[in-house]
Amino acid sequence: MTVAPSAVRVPFADLMRMHEPLLDEFDRVWRSVSRSARFIGGELLDGFERDWAAACDVRHCVGVANGTDALELALRALGVGPGQEVVVPANTFAATAEAVLAVGASPVFVDVDPGTLLVDPSTVAPALTRHTAAVIVVHLYGQAADVPGVQQLLRGTGAAVVEDCAQAHGARWRGRPVGGLGKAGCFSFYPGKNLGAFGDGGAVTTDDPEVARTVRQLADHGRSAIDKHVHQITGRNSRLDALQAGLLAVKARHLDAWNRQRRQVHEWYAAELGGVGGIRLMEHRPQSRSVHHLEVVRVEERERVRAELSALGVETGVHYPVPCHEQPAFAGSRATALPVTTRAARQVLSLPMHPGLSQAAVAEVSSALRAVVAP
Ligand SMILES: *Cc1c(COP(=O)(O)O)cnc(C)c1O
Repeated sequence: MTVAPSAVRVPFADLMRMHEPLLDEFDRVWRSVSRSARFIGGELLDGFERDWAAACDVRHCVGVANGTDALELALRALGVGPGQEVVVPANTFAATAEAVLAVGASPVFVDVDPGTLLVDPSTVAPALTRHTAAVIVVHLYGQAADVPGVQQLLRGTGAAVVEDCAQAHGARWRGRPVGGLGKAGCFSFYPGKNLGAFGDGGAVTTDDPEVARTVRQLADHGRSAIDKHVHQITGRNSRLDALQAGLLAVKARHLDAWNRQRRQVHEWYAAELGGVGGIRLMEHRPQSRSVHHLEVVRVEERERVRAELSALGVETGVHYPVPCHEQPAFAGSRATALPVTTRAARQVLSLPMHPGLSQAAVAEVSSALRAVVAP
């Protein structure tokens, strides 16, 4: 059945609504950058890096050009390279695996917990070999994953946990912020993330001064800190612009409030959809304080459900329809058995989720979903 899409009644996301009250503050950042002509580095970048390190409860934050670079440069700073393996959940955005290939290492795809669709120690364990150099724990959908559990598993192996925090700005595991749980935390500030820039941006957070120093050097053409004309290692250009850093600093002051609004939206969805036949909600571990980047449910006949919701004016997304191990770009990569990921890829459906989404809109989406899902 084909259903013509109708006018959007409930949009998937709504950045303008978050930005409207902040337009004067954004203007001040723009003017200050224009006047100072300090576009690269400087006080706005330093200030945001200080703020974000504090938010993640770590000593160092290095701004980079995007979240994919954050992952790649963190892996490189840890010495991960050819001949080594990096364990990656198959249920993640492709960038997580791309970063592994970019450093010349091999991704090994693992399955996820059936309740949360996150990696945990039990799904990582079967993938470990003497070649394992790192495990990328992805805090997907805004939930915090069990980093301490994975670290326990890696004890004595020399392998490190790198956190992919691109969907989890402000999430916590047992009260500790993501980005400060593993050896390095990697953030994306892509506009649609919980904390988004006006374009691309990213950051690496870490308590390890050597990792921070190496990421900063790699991101700045491998330059020596003492003499900028000496390029000590092969680096590249991956910087967070002063303008983006200034805008992010403004938005970061509102992140907790926005995340609280997302939590409220999630609670309305849970009340509307909990226990409804044919709709499976994501489970949340008690140790994880989620920031609800995405409201993901699982349904059968997902494409039909999406089309009918679209006809009712409800915008949805899919994160992600093709898991990493089925992507042509990663063909030939090693993988453990992936029954949960493979099944979830056919069922996951992301409902409208953003700060400020009203209870009436959540009720409208929920009744539309209940109506189109076959009981
Ligand atoms: C967005 C995202 C990335 C990549 O971030 P970019 O800034 O777009 O490069 C990596 N991992 C996950 C899980 C993401 O959602």
